[in-house]
Amino acid sequence: MTTATAMRIPEPPTTPSAGRVYNFSAGPACMPESVLLQLREELMDMHGTGIGLLEQSHRASTYDRILAEAFESVRACAGLGDDWEVLFLPGGSMQHFSLIAMNFVPKDGWVAFADTGLWSHKGEKETACVRATKKTFDGATCRFDHVPADSEIADCAGATYFCYCSNNTVEGTQFARPPRVAAPLVCDATSDIFSRPYDLAAHELIFCSGQKNLGASGITMVLARKSWLERADRSLPPLLSYSNFAKTESRPNTPPTFGVRVIGLMSKWTHDFGGPAAFGPRNKAKAAHIYAAIDRSGGFYRPSMRGDCRSDMSISFQLPSDALVDRFVAESEREGLCGLRGHREWGGIRACVYNAFPAKGCALLAEFMDGFAKKNG
Ligand code: PMP
Repeated sequence: MTTATAMRIPEPPTTPSAGRVYNFSAGPACMPESVLLQLREELMDMHGTGIGLLEQSHRASTYDRILAEAFESVRACAGLGDDWEVLFLPGGSMQHFSLIAMNFVPKDGWVAFADTGLWSHKGEKETACVRATKKTFDGATCRFDHVPADSEIADCAGATYFCYCSNNTVEGTQFARPPRVAAPLVCDATSDIFSRPYDLAAHELIFCSGQKNLGASGITMVLARKSWLERADRSLPPLLSYSNFAKTESRPNTPPTFGVRVIGLMSKWTHDFGGPAAFGPRNKAKAAHIYAAIDRSGGFYRPSMRGDCRSDMSISFQLPSDALVDRFVAESEREGLCGLRGHREWGGIRACVYNAFPAKGCALLAEFMDGFAKKNG
């Protein structure tokens, strides 16, 4: 085998298998079928032990292996060095807005926030329950139509950290690169982790719920610089303490074992198909089909975000009326294009096309959009 052949990166499947639809859901979201099939087998018998995945003790050697594989795959996928810690914690990322503040911000400290959409807006409110916050960018003033350039962010000097969301799942905007501000960076990467090459090293801590590019809901993965973790408040109750999660290899009590396995398999799948470096261009090409249909619709489809901030993960646009949204959702579903209704607080249509979303679905949606606009425009 030549080196070139050995190094060729495989392409993930571009269509779902018979009986499955194109699932554009924002999360829990579409997963790779190979991962689902492996989980199906493992549910009955994990590694030939005669004990299923959900039945394995979290102190058994089988779980030691599950955990080690998950850490290894995440590290490989993220390209993390030894100076980074990987944590798996129960619950969604929303609860980490307050937890991170409790762990790292002194009682008289404050957190700088970029309010760029629903999730960072809610996150700021969660954080404000435990520590002082300051919006250093308020997206409400531009109807969340873009993420800020560095020059639009107010001075963050003195903040313990600057918290932002790399991909705004509801509004469909995405940061092209981490902001450069005068405070350490903490990022909610729930809806675009591992979707493209991104400068993770610019951050001190990155957190993300599992239910998109990592698979299962109800679990959060935290990537944290070890030197930053050392600063965590050790007087917190152990089950709220990041340093305790690090010390106990993310099992201070019974961990979300299923979610850890799913994250391990999803990260391995992502890595096997080339990792963020290969998924970046794939995801861009997938999203481009849908943006092209928006752009050629002559204003029928109305994206609310600026062209330079378009997300490759969550594509959001409005239609001329709510009745047309209902019709779009009903008719697309009949074509096997499912889960397209926008977030209940934002309306319109949203197509989430995470790493595992099969590419052909984006071309089919674009074709459907062309026909729908012609009929109803
Ligand atoms: N942040 C972002 C960017 C999200 O998209 C979501 C959920 N869609 C959340 C946070 C909240 O995640 P959870 O419901 O798992 O707490």
